[in-house]
Order: sequence, then structure tokens, then C-alpha cells
Amino acid sequence: MKRWQILNAEPENYSGQAVDLLSTVGDVRLAQQDRVSLLTALADVDALIVRLAFQIDEQVLAAAPRLRAIVTATTGLDHIDLAAAERRGVKVLSLKGEVDFLRSIPATAELTWGLLLALTRNIPAAFSSVLQSEWQRDRFKGHDLAGRRLGILGLGRIGYMVARYGLAFGMRVLAYDPTPQLWVEGVERVSSPVELFRQADVLSIHVPLNPVTVRLVGKSELDQMPPGSFLINTSRGDILDEVALLDVLKSGQLAGAALDVLSNERSDSLASSPLIRYAQTHSNLILTPHIGGATYESMAATEIFMAKKLVDYLKSLETNG
Ligand code: NAD
Repeated sequence: MKRWQILNAEPENYSGQAVDLLSTVGDVRLAQQDRVSLLTALADVDALIVRLAFQIDEQVLAAAPRLRAIVTATTGLDHIDLAAAERRGVKVLSLKGEVDFLRSIPATAELTWGLLLALTRNIPAAFSSVLQSEWQRDRFKGHDLAGRRLGILGLGRIGYMVARYGLAFGMRVLAYDPTPQLWVEGVERVSSPVELFRQADVLSIHVPLNPVTVRLVGKSELDQMPPGSFLINTSRGDILDEVALLDVLKSGQLAGAALDVLSNERSDSLASSPLIRYAQTHSNLILTPHIGGATYESMAATEIFMAKKLVDYLKSLETNG
């Protein structure tokens, strides 16, 4: 039986159980790569496992002549050139569309709620102040959530969970989704994104990135938000017009924003990001480095799930030639 060569290029804390599964069909190499070393390492690789550190583009694919599969335990696939992969006959295995399994994975919804509380209660700024040996209660007055309006843009897997947290906190929850699979009892349906933006005291974005949703949230949407409202984005950076966001933060129209994703998060220009610069001197913008899905439990579960998918795929190649 053929032993497939499997490279995990981002193996930190990778599930041992997933390795055991993969070892039944191939030789598994766990070796953290940078982009340059990845290009060399791929020469004899049949299956590549990644998270979000690399842009898998034409150059990477060209460096992998034997590659049959790319495995990514994500639903968003904007880090992979899908057309180029298809042209080269490389199968992309992901969590996209794995609806039943994903409903058991709460990490990004929980992070969204953490950001929401951090933002509305000034938790990061208050903690920084305490680290300076200050104890200034009145500087960090926040807002109640109960009774306020939570707007959910995209009531899919994550939006659904966040909507339920909102209801549990006594919020009035509204959502816009043109094609919802499930609706949450108690959530009000609004007829357009504009209506949602107009009504939300806190707006949370949970749509997939695609040609229709690029910059879906721009100046005209943000301008509709009530003065003193808050915005959370844990979906993808390119869904939000970041220049427009900075404008409404600077003007005071928005009280604050929390982002787990940035438009240029994988680029070399990250350090010069206007959003990071703004956050260095303003406490009303909270940024986290795409940690939504990054919990031990959720990552282990997804890694094992994806390992099974890869094993099945490689076995099917053996069978079908
Ligand atoms: P999902 O596919 O389950 O749900 C997305 C929902 O958005 C669907 O119900 C769809 O009908 C709706 N939608 C599509 N276009 C819309 C539009 N124009 N306006 C309003 N709604 C629209 O996706 P999900 O698993 O809930 O993921 C949501 C987002 O979170 C995605 O962008 C995904 O990439 C991102 N994500 C981020 C992290 C992270 O670590 N921060 C982790 C997982 C997923």
C-alpha cells in the first residue's frame, strides 16, 4: 500500500489523535515552516495541512508537483487560490459546508461575545490602567447590554450562536440574512442591511467572504449606525471597509469596534496598518489576531475531523487510481 507523504506546515499543538489517524495511511511530518522553507519542503509532499499563516497561491502550488490535497480546518478559504488548486487537480479539504459538525464548534461565537463584553465594558483599557498601579473606577464606566439592541449580519452557524447569547443577556436581537438555514426564536427579522445598521446598538458581522460581501459594510452602512453604537467583526477583514471604520471611530459616530480579522492580516504591510496604529493610541478599538477558532477543544475536534476527511480522500485515491 502506498505511504502518502503528509506535511503539516503549522503544527503547533496539533492533535495527537489526528496524527495517529493520519499515520494509518502515510508518513506525517510536523514541521513549522516559513514561506521560503515551505516552497522547498513541498517538493515530495502529497498532502499539505495548513491553518491560516500562508497564502496558498500559484507559487506555492507550483513548488508542490506531487500535491493531491490541501487540508485547512477553516470555513473561510480566502487564504487559498481555489481556481489555481483546481487547475492543478489539487483537492481542497475544509470545513466549508460541514454544517452538522460545525454546529458543535462554539469557539468563534464565544470569542465574539468576549470581544463584545471587552468593548462595552472597557476591559482591556481598565486592565492596562491597573498594570500602571492605577485604580480609577470612574474612567472605565461602560454600558449595560440588557435592553439594548444587538444586530446580527448573517444568521448562519456563528450568527445563530451569538444571537442566542444576546437573548440570554436580555438583549433585543435583530438579524438580517437573505437565506437563513435556521431562525432563532425570539430574534426579529429585518428586511435589509440598512435597517439592521440603523437599529443596532451593537452590530456583529457573521457573513462569509465572497464577491458579493467584499466591503459589504462600508461608509453608507456605518453612517446609519446610531451614535454611540459598537461594531464587532469576527468574520473576514475584507467584508469591512476599514478606512470608513476609522472615519466613524475618529468622528465619534461609533463608540468602539472590536476586530478579530484584518483585511491585510497575512501581508508584510501589517505593521503599517492604520487600524493597528489607531489602536495603539485609542482604547475604543480592540484587535485580536484571528483567534476566533483558536481554542484547544475546538481546534482538536476540527483537526481530528479533518484528519478523517483526509484519510478517506487518500484512500479513495488508492481505490480509484
Ligand atoms: P455560515 O455559512 O454558517 O453563515 C453565514 C451566513 O451569512 C449564512 O446564513 C448566509 O445566508 C449569510 N449571508 C450570506 N450573504 C449575506 C449577506 N450579504 N447579508 C447577510 N447575510 C448573508 O458561516 P459561519 O460559519 O457562521 O461563519 C461566518 C463568518 O465567520 C465567515 O466569514 C467565516 O469565514 C468566519 N469565521 C471566522 C473565524 C475566526 O477565527 N475569526 C472562525 C470561523 C469562521
